[in-house]
Amino acid sequence: MTLPASAKYLVIGAGVHGLSTAWHLAKEQRTRGEEPDVLIVDKTGVGAGASGIACGVVRNNYFQPAMSELMAANVEVWEQDPEAFSYHPVGYLALGAASQVSDLTAVHERQARIDYPSELIVGAAEVARHMREMFPDWRAQGVEVCLHEEKGGFANNMASMHGLAAKAEEAGARLVDGVRVTGFEMDDSGAVTAVETDRGTVAVEQVVVAAGPWVKSIWTMLGLPNTLDVRTPDGTVHADQEMWTYWYLQEGEIDVDPALLSLPDGSMPPVLHVDSDAPLYDDEGNFVTDELWGNYFKQDLHGVQGGAAPVVVGHEFEVDPYPTASVQADFADMWCASLSHCMKRFEGKRATYKNVRSGGVGCFTADSFPVFDYMRPNVYVIADSNHGYKMIGVGREVARVLSGGESGLLQPFRYERFATGDLHPVSNSPYPWS
Ligand SMILES: Cc1cc2nc3c(=O)[nH]c(=O)nc-3n(C[C@H](O)[C@H](O)[C@H](O)COP(=O)(O)OP(=O)(O)OC[C@H]3O[C@@H](n4cnc5c(N)ncnc54)[C@H](O)[C@@H]3O)c2cc1C
Repeated sequence: MTLPASAKYLVIGAGVHGLSTAWHLAKEQRTRGEEPDVLIVDKTGVGAGASGIACGVVRNNYFQPAMSELMAANVEVWEQDPEAFSYHPVGYLALGAASQVSDLTAVHERQARIDYPSELIVGAAEVARHMREMFPDWRAQGVEVCLHEEKGGFANNMASMHGLAAKAEEAGARLVDGVRVTGFEMDDSGAVTAVETDRGTVAVEQVVVAAGPWVKSIWTMLGLPNTLDVRTPDGTVHADQEMWTYWYLQEGEIDVDPALLSLPDGSMPPVLHVDSDAPLYDDEGNFVTDELWGNYFKQDLHGVQGGAAPVVVGHEFEVDPYPTASVQADFADMWCASLSHCMKRFEGKRATYKNVRSGGVGCFTADSFPVFDYMRPNVYVIADSNHGYKMIGVGREVARVLSGGESGLLQPFRYERFATGDLHPVSNSPYPWS
């Protein structure tokens, strides 16, 4: 498709956020009786970024009230058309060590208040009983609490992105692949008048940045600051903090019959996320770690897939070609040991670990939570801090804001929070995103 000379809305990036925003913008325009004028450009194509390689887990479990409320809205969108989104509403299990009982209890209580159905089980014996009803060979130690979310689950990454792209195009958005944004023309107010690309310039009224791990390069093109002062809720100001930090998400897969992880009745199990402080050993009895460790896993198309804690790779990172690197050398040992620690069925499965490039880099903000905000008078940035495959509904909220409405769900994620100290509370989880 040729690149049009102008667009009312130009969306950069055909991942979950760009596609969802374009879909909802086109629908909003039709509702107003206008012909949709939404253009999505991607330097590669649909799902070429993080959305196309994500593990695909959709959960609500967040310690931060604003995240939890936003996730409930995202699940509503996943549930609108599970088939088109290749979405499996199998539920989600979060299991934690003693240090996480209070966090997960708080999450459960909030979920009850917002009518997000979940069950809380506390106590090692009670948790083991609950887990053995689903997985008779459950044997994890150091697990004192379980939050069982009835909703959520996972979706198949590429299939869901193609389903979302089809929805955007059916609604009237245009998608042009192979177009790299290289710069912006701005007026004196800092508003973008045209977007420069390697295939020509497009005059625009509004721009949406949904560039995933490439956000820093677009942010820099917009002349936005890569360091900032961050005020914490106690009033302390931390000067000159880096706005962006790259983390490598470690994921892998074992090549087994997916049914290995089925429930006793043969059905698909919930997604599991286990954090434990029990010493971890591999199947040969070799010591792995005695620090709090975490893993997550799910039944996949060709095996069992999941991951473990991510690693920081710095404030600068060459994101292309994507995915850029591979997991740490000891990841496979750790992840397979943790699977076997949880269920006997995984004993000896280290040999089936697929030695392929896996995981990918994510770009996290200064407080590891999303920034959803206008960063120039007509440029809306969706920087999800790597929380976001599950956030299919953010585009709906952004479209509402771009159409002149308001979104209470997005309000807590404004950039201004770094200056005002309205940061999100931090949990006891070993992950930067819980
Ligand atoms: C290994 C891994 C596993 C993950 N697992 C989960 C999970 O289980 N659940 C979950 O909720 N989240 C998960 N995430 C996070 C999630 O994938 C991301 O937060 C989300 O996909 C980001 O979506 P996006 O639309 O912002 O960006 P992306 O999907 O990365 O899309 C950005 C697009 O922008 C395009 N682009 C970039 N620069 C330019 C440019 N200059 N011009 C034109 N186009 C450009 C790229 O080609 C790309 O297609 C995971 C992330 C990783 C890396």
